[in-house]
Amino acid sequence: MKLVLASNNVKKLAELDAILAPLGWQLIAQGDLGIPEVEEPHGTFVENALAKARHASQIAGLPALADDSGLCVDAFGGAPGVWSARYAGEPKSDARNNEKLLRELGGNRQRTAHFVSVIVFVRHPDDPQPIIAEGEWHGEILSAARGDDGFGYDPLFYIRELDKSAAELDAAEKNRRSHRGQALARLVERLQARR
Ligand code: IMP
Repeated sequence: MKLVLASNNVKKLAELDAILAPLGWQLIAQGDLGIPEVEEPHGTFVENALAKARHASQIAGLPALADDSGLCVDAFGGAPGVWSARYAGEPKSDARNNEKLLRELGGNRQRTAHFVSVIVFVRHPDDPQPIIAEGEWHGEILSAARGDDGFGYDPLFYIRELDKSAAELDAAEKNRRSHRGQALARLVERLQARR
């Protein structure tokens, strides 16, 4: 099955493609079809993911997959959450987001946080039964960056049982544990069960 991915984040595309390609799904990045990113004005992950999937499906004329994700920090009451990509303002910058997170958290001893991913699949833009799946990944915020892999807040996201940051995991291990990997596994299960 050919489907368009409603994201221009190449690292996200690589993570999703590693799981979907073995199932015979061909993911096409919306950027390769000249589809621009849509606004993400909503206060919930599911609304943003649905808006992104519908928009890409409408323009591409293909089924679409969209992920909306973010980092929820307990000491900030769940922020930056849906606003994670633009936490430090425009233009989007992982480096500035990470600097701001370290600055705002300072020496706070409450450092627990979790990533959320909501993945939506639509067969067409007006699909009345989108498939929606969610995953969470719990960890802690480090006081300095560690590791060079991954993207976004990975260098600051610490997984205690591995004594590693998410940016120190190889791609396969991140996919096995991550919010996005979990959400996608659930989505695939539901999609395969659909008649
Ligand atoms: P969006 O889903 O494209 O709106 O962006 C989500 C934002 O959350 C990204 O720009 C990252 O800052 C952050 N994020 C989401 N997933 C991850 C991840 O797996 N690792 C690190 N940061 C992430």
